[in-house]
Amino acid sequence: HAKAEGRDVRRYFADVMDQHVKLRARIEDDLRSALKRERGLKVLYQPQVSAADGTIIGLEALVRWHHPTHGLILPDQFIPIAEETGLIVPLGEWVLRQACETSLRWPHLFMAVNLSAKQFHSNKFAERVIKIVRDSGADPRRIELEITESVLLGDPATREALKALREAGFRIALDDFGTGHSSLGYLRQFEVDKIKIDRSFIKQLGQGSDKNSGPLVEAIVALGHTMGLTVTAEGIETDQQREFLASRGCNELQGFLFSEAVTADAVADLIRASMRPVSKAVSASLDRN
Ligand code: C2E
Ligand code: MG
Ligand code: MG
Ligand code: MG
Repeated sequence: HAKAEGRDVRRYFADVMDQHVKLRARIEDDLRSALKRERGLKVLYQPQVSAADGTIIGLEALVRWHHPTHGLILPDQFIPIAEETGLIVPLGEWVLRQACETSLRWPHLFMAVNLSAKQFHSNKFAERVIKIVRDSGADPRRIELEITESVLLGDPATREALKALREAGFRIALDDFGTGHSSLGYLRQFEVDKIKIDRSFIKQLGQGSDKNSGPLVEAIVALGHTMGLTVTAEGIETDQQREFLASRGCNELQGFLFSEAVTADAVADLIRASMRPVSKAVSASLDRN
């Protein structure tokens, strides 16, 4: 009896696993064809603002996928599949191309693009990135490449590619800072220009139950500055969080308090709106023309 039950349980898990594998294979096929036809995928842009005065200084490109039957799929759900299947290479380059084109609309802003560690393993990665950006007419010095710790801890070829990209003028931002597992030793090697404090630290700020996040965030800002790095905080949702970070000298802020990721046209509206208080008369006369 017990033996039969064990068999049922194993059969059950085998079925579940089988469905899981099939679903992933379907998503892989769908993603491949979305890329090929350039249908369903789009890039949205989230503003990054100066902590000192709230003006928009940069944008982060964030990919979205509208699946024909499953609806909106967020990157946390399909980027891992893209990484496992190698599709991240063409997908990442498509996002980079879109972001570069969009960046030409606002020569005074920087444009940040996320890169997966997997992309660094592809052949001639740095050369291809440099070519895509040059072909678009964008200036590499205004393109910021967001990487995670795994890139800094990568193999020699990966480190070499990162070095080549920095030498070509790209700025490097270390994303999700504080969530990794390694030592801080890599910051000593001056391979990055900016750290982005992970949202999980910001979320706890000002919550009575958490007494450690404040001092921790403050220490991260100070650490970054000691190393000569720009410090950005992600996931700012409240005025309280904004004030905390601004008063500690954090340079840049990003989060729903300012805007979620929106279309390029909506960014244009945000920029126009943020200019309005400077001179109502000037923007009114611009609107008339
Ligand atoms: P990330 O690079 O850390 O991007 C920030 C994520 O936090 C975005 O989620 C953004 O929408 C979200 N976010 C921003 N402000 C707030 C806030 O105030 N509150 C909350 N709750 N969330 C906020 P998204 O767009 O879903 O992207 C998730 C992750 O997927 C990104 O994290 C990034 O690691 C990855 N990703 C997105 N686009 C790309 C891409 O083109 N290439 C690669 N390789 N990864 C990407
Ligand atoms: Mg990012
Ligand atoms: Mg992040
Ligand atoms: Mg991330």
